[in-house]
Amino acid sequence: MQPADNIKQLQSVIPRGVTLVAVSKFHPDNAIMQAYNAGQRIFGESRAQELIAKASALPSDIQWHFIGHLQTNKVKAVLPIVSLIHSIDSERLLRAVGMEAIKIHKTVDVLLQVHVAAESTKTGFTPEELTAIAPVAASTAGISVRGIMGMATNTTDTQRITADFRSIRQCYDTLAATTFAADPHFNIISMGMSDDWQLALAAGSNMVRIGSAIFGQRTPIN
Ligand SMILES: *Cc1c(COP(=O)(O)O)cnc(C)c1O
Repeated sequence: MQPADNIKQLQSVIPRGVTLVAVSKFHPDNAIMQAYNAGQRIFGESRAQELIAKASALPSDIQWHFIGHLQTNKVKAVLPIVSLIHSIDSERLLRAVGMEAIKIHKTVDVLLQVHVAAESTKTGFTPEELTAIAPVAASTAGISVRGIMGMATNTTDTQRITADFRSIRQCYDTLAATTFAADPHFNIISMGMSDDWQLALAAGSNMVRIGSAIFGQRTPIN
């Protein structure tokens, strides 16, 4: 019952108004069901095949969030399943999602992923690119831009982590005051993971993506 206890613990400390995404990637269906039975309904996955398999096997009232790098050739399979894509990280992906959304008569909620962390391996738009892509995203049919997602540098330096979260928050505030000033749906700041969610909340996050603190260590697959 470990995931259930962890979910209940997190739900009791995460403030009202903050959405908890339980990141279930690499964890089996039965672990997800333990969290589900503790009341959790929003789960995050980062790989298309894994998401598709889990969505077909697990309860239909689960809201699946896609949080990883999404290849354009997986968009068609993933769109009917997901309620929010956190990880729009290129104009190409943005357009692919918009085109497929129109085909299936769905408006897809997305977040624009911003890259502020030190690691060059992490994907997303730089703050400058974000400024340029925002009006394009806002006018892409089939898409509703709900906010932005970001990650802090993977470090134990809490000042650096806080600085990264503040940069992400700054990007959000800028877009909320400009491109999306008239759009009440632009209201999500997705930042914070198992090791840094408290710092993220202090910097203004309203959606945290927590995996290992709920499900334990992941076994890397590749
Ligand atoms: C895996 C992952 C998480 C969860 O990480 P934990 O440290 O296990 O909480 C959050 N966000 C993204 C984008 C991830 O890929």
